[in-house]
Amino acid sequence: MQRMKNQRRKDTPKNPEEVKKTRREQEKETNLDSWVPRTSTGKAVKAREITDIDFILDQGQSILEPEITDTLLQVETDLLLIGQSRGKFGGGQRRVFRQTQKKTREGNKPKFATMAVVGDKNGHVGVGIGKAKETVPAREKAMRQAKLNIVKIRRGCGGWQCNCKEPHTIPFEVSGKCGSVEITLIPAPKGKGLCIHSECAKVLEMAGIKDVWSKTRGQTKNRVNLLFACEKALKQLSQVKVLSRLEQEMQITEGKAKAKNKVESKEEAKVEAAKKEENGTKTE
Ligand SMILES: [Zn+2]
Repeated sequence: MQRMKNQRRKDTPKNPEEVKKTRREQEKETNLDSWVPRTSTGKAVKAREITDIDFILDQGQSILEPEITDTLLQVETDLLLIGQSRGKFGGGQRRVFRQTQKKTREGNKPKFATMAVVGDKNGHVGVGIGKAKETVPAREKAMRQAKLNIVKIRRGCGGWQCNCKEPHTIPFEVSGKCGSVEITLIPAPKGKGLCIHSECAKVLEMAGIKDVWSKTRGQTKNRVNLLFACEKALKQLSQVKVLSRLEQEMQITEGKAKAKNKVESKEEAKVEAAKKEENGTKTE
């Protein structure tokens, strides 16, 4: 480990942002290299027998290791503001961690909860919640859970107002419910943007949806329920049967948006990238 640290110090460029990125990438790569898969799906992914996450999701196999998502998708992660700092008159600033306390004989025992969203901004998204006595493990649990919960999202051009035939919004109206919170997502024309609660917008952005109208009902100040309702609505998109005629008309795509001609070239590029990675690890 000490050798690795020294190498990193030598290699680090001057720009602090670049330093952070490269360090993160390096850590990710080392984590994936040292990953020992336990499930049969994980072993197939590690051996590069499965190169597409859609294959796993289509077969209904469960993802039990977060590294599967890391290897198959270029995911970005974000934390959702579900907590609130203390403030007079309920005016506290929104925070990533929701802090709760249990009253005990010894005193107050605080606990932290947080929600994470992961996605490739191209039809895959996952939401997860994590709770722990400290902030860092809570975040890690949330990240892990989000990666395991990843699902395919159906996109299309379902608005009456536009007929652009690009998958920029959702193909039809869907709704989801969690507790008293009910959310309805409505297809919007191109260029409208995400007309929705800011935290739900983060989830939709990660899924690759650019335009949407929405309607909510119930205690929407409970953000955990609001976000779970939003996730359920997104899952609803894939559970509806669509006629193949309409599928072409509205350009409904599940998962990655891809033109039919480009499919092969993309897969080829992936294989090439995999080869490059292998070579890179060998030279190191
Ligand atoms: Zn459109």
